[in-house]
Amino acid sequence: AGLTAPSGNRPQSSDGDTSTGTGSASGDTGTASGDRDIGTDPGTASGDTGAGAEGAARDPGADGAVTVTAGGELADAVRAALAATGVEFVAAAEHPAALVYDASGLTDAAQLGGLREFLGPRVRSLRTGGRVLVLARPPAEAPDVAAHVARRALTGFVRSLGKEVGRGATVSLLRVATGGESSLGSTLRFLLSPRSAYVSGQVVDVAPAPAGGPGRAGSADGAAAERPLAGRTALVTGAAQGIGAAIAATLAADGATVVCLDVPAQGEALAAVANRVGGSSLHLDITAPTAPRELVEYLTQRYDGVDIVVHNAGVLRDRTLAKMTEAEWDTVLSVNLIAPQRLTAALVDDPTALRPGARIVCLSSLNGIAGAAGQTNYAASKAGVIGLVEAYAPVLAQRGVTINAVAPGFIETRMTASMPLTVREVGRRANSLAQGGLPVDVAEAVSWLAAPDSGGITGQTVRVCGQSLLGA
Ligand code: NAD
Repeated sequence: AGLTAPSGNRPQSSDGDTSTGTGSASGDTGTASGDRDIGTDPGTASGDTGAGAEGAARDPGADGAVTVTAGGELADAVRAALAATGVEFVAAAEHPAALVYDASGLTDAAQLGGLREFLGPRVRSLRTGGRVLVLARPPAEAPDVAAHVARRALTGFVRSLGKEVGRGATVSLLRVATGGESSLGSTLRFLLSPRSAYVSGQVVDVAPAPAGGPGRAGSADGAAAERPLAGRTALVTGAAQGIGAAIAATLAADGATVVCLDVPAQGEALAAVANRVGGSSLHLDITAPTAPRELVEYLTQRYDGVDIVVHNAGVLRDRTLAKMTEAEWDTVLSVNLIAPQRLTAALVDDPTALRPGARIVCLSSLNGIAGAAGQTNYAASKAGVIGLVEAYAPVLAQRGVTINAVAPGFIETRMTASMPLTVREVGRRANSLAQGGLPVDVAEAVSWLAAPDSGGITGQTVRVCGQSLLGA
């Protein structure tokens, strides 16, 4: 299986949706419909241009030759991290699955022309749905002004190339801090495979993973790459439908035992998801005053603690501020922000609830970054979630625990499918990939951040939005 070739089926994520919305073009209006057959080869199925990790190969593979530059400091680490996945690295290929440019040796802006020289002539030969990956060192580590300037310039380059590359290809900047070279496995497997189909124009920072984490740091062997979450226990809130159900399915497919949580009213749907993924269901309203204590008790008594926590449950109550009721405000803030904050605090404070090397992933939203009319409550809650991640990251790092957010953009859902055609088309088209994402695209990003060898990534918010034109 190659970078863009088929292998295996991704779990379907076509559950229903009950949320309400006003039809914001960035997609926070509902959930999965799964009505597109993304098929096996991103870029060809159902007329798509590349988004949709569903049904696609999950790992970069042998027939997906990757053209990589030599000369920087990181190319060897990339080769080593992907050694067991069968990626063929070549100096030149007619239609490469990925182009990797190692810019880690940059010391001065004058050298930026190397990007043009390498990628300019090759970018058109990239396969449909291919990947461009620029590797660099973080500006914060630069020894002098010239190096800082050069490193910082890369973000503008990557974001612009993402907007012009077309044909479902994506462009990412991976900045690896000194010592982070050995923590690249999960991130490369994500960024160089169709799993990242709806992630483009993003900057990902990898720091050295803290010692004493869950082990398997390199995770380069094939078995670990296939089921990277084997032996882990995961909690997914709001798992009865939509993106949460897709996350539960993806984490389970990656080897985790999944505790699926949702409100009691979702009993049947939640049980169905839990059955499908071979996990358990926990009926709990996360806003209940007793929820933090009940959750900690459940996870410690039944499972000896949890390795992965996904704060996915969320609601919308869209209305312009002038007309918004107290109840509409309070509901959104308490479900989307205050409950995750309280649950996280309870899990962190309990000595055994979070296992060593645990991973927390929160669902933010593009609208939490860009804002949206009618969503002062929602956008405040989702920006607050980014704050939760930023505030907890340094505290939890001491325990080898990471906390990150994913910020979805327009995700194809039952609700977005029922939006007025023009609003829907704007939401779909207003991104570099010119289409909506799928719940599984969000789920794949969550699974990447939840992986044992993603310990070098914390405090970050990764957008899964096809490089939306909003809030860039
Ligand atoms: P959804 O409405 O389909 O599912 C949310 C789930 O959360 C439901 O099953 C619901 O019952 C559950 N839930 C709500 N309140 C709860 C509570 N108090 N306790 C426990 N569970 C509760 O939503 P979705 O579209 O799948 O969204 C999932 C997450 O992704 C949300 O946080 C949402 O804000 C975010 N998001 C979605 C989109 C999109 O396009 N759909 C875009 C950006 C962000």
